[in-house]
Amino acid sequence: MTETYIDTYYRRTSVDHPAYPALAGSHQADVCIIGGGLAGLSTAYECLQRGLTVALLERHRIAWGASGRNGGFVTAGYATGHDQIARRAGEAGAKALHDLSVEGVRMVRENIDRLDLPRVNPTPGVLRAIRYDDAAGLQAEVAESKRKFGTTLRYLSREEVQEKLKSKAYFQGLYVPDAFHFHPLNYALGLGAAIARQGGAIFEQSAATAITRKAGGFTVTTAGGSIAVEHVVLCGGGYTDRVVPALHRAYLPIATYMLLSEPIADITQAIDTNAAIADDRRAGDYYRVVDGNRILWGGCITTRTADPANLAAIMRRRIVETYPQLGALKVAAAWSGLMSYARHLMPQIGRTSDGLWFATGFGGHGMNTTAIAGRVVAEAIAGECDRIKLYKPFGLDWNGGPFGRIAVQATYWYLQAMDAWRERGAHKTHARP
Ligand SMILES: Cc1cc2nc3c(=O)[nH]c(=O)nc-3n(C[C@H](O)[C@H](O)[C@H](O)COP(=O)(O)OP(=O)(O)OC[C@H]3O[C@@H](n4cnc5c(N)ncnc54)[C@H](O)[C@@H]3O)c2cc1C
Repeated sequence: MTETYIDTYYRRTSVDHPAYPALAGSHQADVCIIGGGLAGLSTAYECLQRGLTVALLERHRIAWGASGRNGGFVTAGYATGHDQIARRAGEAGAKALHDLSVEGVRMVRENIDRLDLPRVNPTPGVLRAIRYDDAAGLQAEVAESKRKFGTTLRYLSREEVQEKLKSKAYFQGLYVPDAFHFHPLNYALGLGAAIARQGGAIFEQSAATAITRKAGGFTVTTAGGSIAVEHVVLCGGGYTDRVVPALHRAYLPIATYMLLSEPIADITQAIDTNAAIADDRRAGDYYRVVDGNRILWGGCITTRTADPANLAAIMRRRIVETYPQLGALKVAAAWSGLMSYARHLMPQIGRTSDGLWFATGFGGHGMNTTAIAGRVVAEAIAGECDRIKLYKPFGLDWNGGPFGRIAVQATYWYLQAMDAWRERGAHKTHARP
């Protein structure tokens, strides 16, 4: 059966793009990449820049998974914070990893310009707004970011936040000028077209079903054919199957949801900024205005990978709770996607003991990290340098099996409860005369 894209805002507004053929017969390449999300596409593109020949296998269509359905926020950092990273990688390692994450943001921005990618619409700025009163905390973060990473963040008072976000839910905020938001599907399709133009072979509707070792490399098999290669790179993200059991055991698929509204007559009565907005709740809400009059809103995380029947209603409620003035809001589309999380919450980028490369586990922070992952894997394969080793502290830890899933869901509920408690306290404090 031919599986195509699900109905998302991005699908409705995607550029024209070719269907790539399914793999048939025997092929050869230096590198076979399994998975056509942004991790796979970035790896293919970076390998090509180093003179390697590449073949990319995608089970469905390129960017069919998380890469073509996400919020489109491109920001520095990872799915977990600096202190957590430093615990495993040390302070210097964590700083070097942060610098790589910044390079990832820059790479995406540069690719859009260099490849002249159509309808990607990069728009500068992300506004992080908090739902409790903590001016001093945010001001300290501005100073700390400057000192530690040289990053410029702009503090916004409650009045400034409320000029842009007309919601009583918000207190102060931080504006991140180096971040941007974009159309991730058009970016991925553009990168795919560039790969094809530069001689890379892309095969859609081609799930890798087996990888076998042979002299000097591997043979990767699909239902229709095979590819003999020196290197294999596994980029299955939240859709990683059992082709390589060690990878399947090392991640948890976590679902998250998005909603696209119908056009809103005067959207500035609620949101009056071109920046994308993220609140500080753990697994909180993130959203932005698209096409000048619609809201694209993301939120919720769950270990339940099947969509709830009332997905659209769940998301709609979150919007109207934040902006009661949007009580008449109509839903145009709602969808979910799967993210891949390792227990350490960092990307998994490296090589198995069998010599297979992997670049996965980007969690909810994949737009910059898939780009840099592609680059460090390609550098390692080409023998150019070994920056990939900075990710070594975050390997293929066991995901905990069913207990891992329960633990993640319980942690999420706990964090949600903590957020609710913090916000209730904040609003009570603020309401005091
Ligand atoms: C709703 C949502 C919102 C998000 N918002 C943001 C955001 O705003 N900013 C941000 O930075 N990150 C965000 N993320 C996270 C980001 O989208 C992901 O981290 C990133 O796209 C992961 O890329 P990937 O290439 O690893 O995985 P995917 O894009 O999921 O691609 C994996 C691909 O591998 C294929 N595959 C798997 N197994 C095989 C096989 N055996 N053979 C062939 N193909 C195979 C799958 O079909 C799939 O297409 C969000 C994620 C979701 C789901």
